[in-house]
Amino acid sequence: MIKERLVDAINEQINRELNSEYIYLDMATYFEKEGLIGFAQFFKIQVQEERFHAMKFYQYLADRDGKIVLKELANPHHEYKSPMEVFEKAYAHEQYITKSINDLMSIAIEEKDYASVSMLNWFVDEQVEEEATMSQIIDKLKLIEGSGRGHGLMMLDKELGARVFTPPTTA
Ligand code: MG
Repeated sequence: MIKERLVDAINEQINRELNSEYIYLDMATYFEKEGLIGFAQFFKIQVQEERFHAMKFYQYLADRDGKIVLKELANPHHEYKSPMEVFEKAYAHEQYITKSINDLMSIAIEEKDYASVSMLNWFVDEQVEEEATMSQIIDKLKLIEGSGRGHGLMMLDKELGARVFTPPTTA
């Protein structure tokens, strides 16, 4: 039987992943407006990843007979001023999500719930990738800044536009 404390914490995490989805969709709208459709595509794929994360936690609770409680989503809108600002916010957001996954893992370990530890291991690994993705794009944006910015942005826009959704492999 899964402990209530863990059920509550996982419900909070479902809400965080759905909020992530909504925040990244808002980021996509910034790039649509700027005419950078490759960047917009990148965030629309990220939206799908976040939905996948939320559903993985959702299904886990359903399988463990934990009560799923959906909560309110926050207004995601922010007036971004540059592509760099968007990616800095996205990177900071993923660092926040990593901390929340680590906190969940601590609870699972304290409760000696090894099924939850196993499920959360997937997310621990996934967060390494999520943070790396955002931080690598920030590095590229830094290279672009200062030298032929418009051309560099167009090149990166083309690269990001090639992103496709590959459902993360689940063991
Ligand atoms: Mg996520």
